Amino acid sequence: MKQKGLLYTGKAKSVYHTDVKGQLIVEFRDDITAFDGGKKDRLKNKGSYNAEASAFIFEYLEKNGVSTHFVKMLDPRHMVVRELKMIPLEVIVRNIAAGSIVRNYPFKEGSKLNPPVIVIDYKDDARHDPMLNDDLIVALKIATPAELEKIKKIALKINTLLVKLMAAQGITLVDFKIEFGRAGKTICLGDEISMDSMRLWDKKTGESLDKDVYRFEKGDVMETYNSVVQRITKRAPAKAKQKAVAAKKTSTKKPAAKKR
Ligand code: 5GP
Repeated sequence: MKQKGLLYTGKAKSVYHTDVKGQLIVEFRDDITAFDGGKKDRLKNKGSYNAEASAFIFEYLEKNGVSTHFVKMLDPRHMVVRELKMIPLEVIVRNIAAGSIVRNYPFKEGSKLNPPVIVIDYKDDARHDPMLNDDLIVALKIATPAELEKIKKIALKINTLLVKLMAAQGITLVDFKIEFGRAGKTICLGDEISMDSMRLWDKKTGESLDKDVYRFEKGDVMETYNSVVQRITKRAPAKAKQKAVAAKKTSTKKPAAKKR
């Protein structure tokens, strides 16, 4: 497959035409941004961590009956996808109150949202992605009522599957954002699902395992992203880490007293 001209460039990904009809290449760049692009950096390997997590999640969802745009990986940061007519909506599913829902509404951070809350924003940077409701979505002709119903149903199915996937690795899925597109009459999951677009908390420690580490400078972002990829894909630790683990095992140092 040959990469052709640039179709679109966003804050962290670029999308290219290809010589194959109906297929595009998504490049996951090392750029990371937050606060509407107000905070920006380039972090080595960030693109490949997000691409690996996304590819793994897309394959998992496909296996469980969710249509996604994923075709295959070309290399660690280039993903071949089915071309979709993207729907300019950011569909956010929330299991626990955190982030903007706590800033904007009287929810207590960390409180359970059961059933999960779906929030849909208009994907429009210039307007700062304002929240929509069903009437606005239909009046703006962004989606029909039937499509909207389908989108919400798929979003909840994805939520159930991701909650299960994360829970098996000791991770709480707090919330996530997804985007959809049309492939003929089918509504198909597009964009990415990665540490940039999910809010994840470690079940034991409560630590953030996602872009909040970058947003609020809570630690080493790339170490966090790498650890999430390892946990969800059960990938063997990188060589440097294996060495560190081996050194720890052979160390004669007394173990530290257990923290209470
Ligand atoms: P919040 O509304 O609390 O800022 O975000 C809710 C969830 O959706 C978080 O997991 C957040 O990372 C994700 N999210 C919201 N807006 C965007 C966006 O523009 N890009 C990405 N990648 N994720 C978003």
